Amino acid sequence: MLEQALHCVTPIARAAFEDTGSGPESRPSRAEAEAAVRTLIRWAGDNPAREGLRDTPARVARAYEEWFGGYAMDPVKILGRRFERSGYDDIVLLRDIPLRSTCEHHMAPITGSVHVAYLPGEEVVGLSKLARLVDAFGRRLQIQERLTVEIADALQRELQPRGVAVVVRASHGCMTSRGVNMHGGAMVTRRLLGAFGTEPYRSDILELLADDRGPR
Ligand SMILES: [Zn+2]
Repeated sequence: MLEQALHCVTPIARAAFEDTGSGPESRPSRAEAEAAVRTLIRWAGDNPAREGLRDTPARVARAYEEWFGGYAMDPVKILGRRFERSGYDDIVLLRDIPLRSTCEHHMAPITGSVHVAYLPGEEVVGLSKLARLVDAFGRRLQIQERLTVEIADALQRELQPRGVAVVVRASHGCMTSRGVNMHGGAMVTRRLLGAFGTEPYRSDILELLADDRGPR
């Protein structure tokens, strides 16, 4: 399965590898990944050979393929299928897209939700594509600020709408589970581009984003 994942690595995923100075060919084998997990179990103070932990390295390696599947997702492809907006010229907003990401400083989970909105130019995309875009950038090692920017900028670049708004609200495992007790703390980041940066659309989108009551 890891071999399969390697074969579908996109040019963007390759670029991510190259940024770090190592090509995809230097990606470790599954056996190496599992050995690394055994090392971390020992670092935690437990015995990787004991019954309950014996299959854990294999499970963790499989889980990583899911948690970090975003490297193999290409935002350009995700937003490639577009439709004419057919007369509709107001805000498109998808609320509460589930977010599952990983903090790049501690490799701890980031969980939360994302609102993505745009003001169509000539074209629109299917709503599921907005959720997949969040997934593509979420399932990587991230900081929330960059995640917010990447989602907004990809949408702006590929769809060329008149405005883009992205709001991310998430709690960070590294804050809620260690050191200072920040239980329940949520971090909110946002990026407002184009028409959403100025009135009247700025007030419109902020009002829509603040409205948790759902359709009436
Ligand atoms: Zn962290």
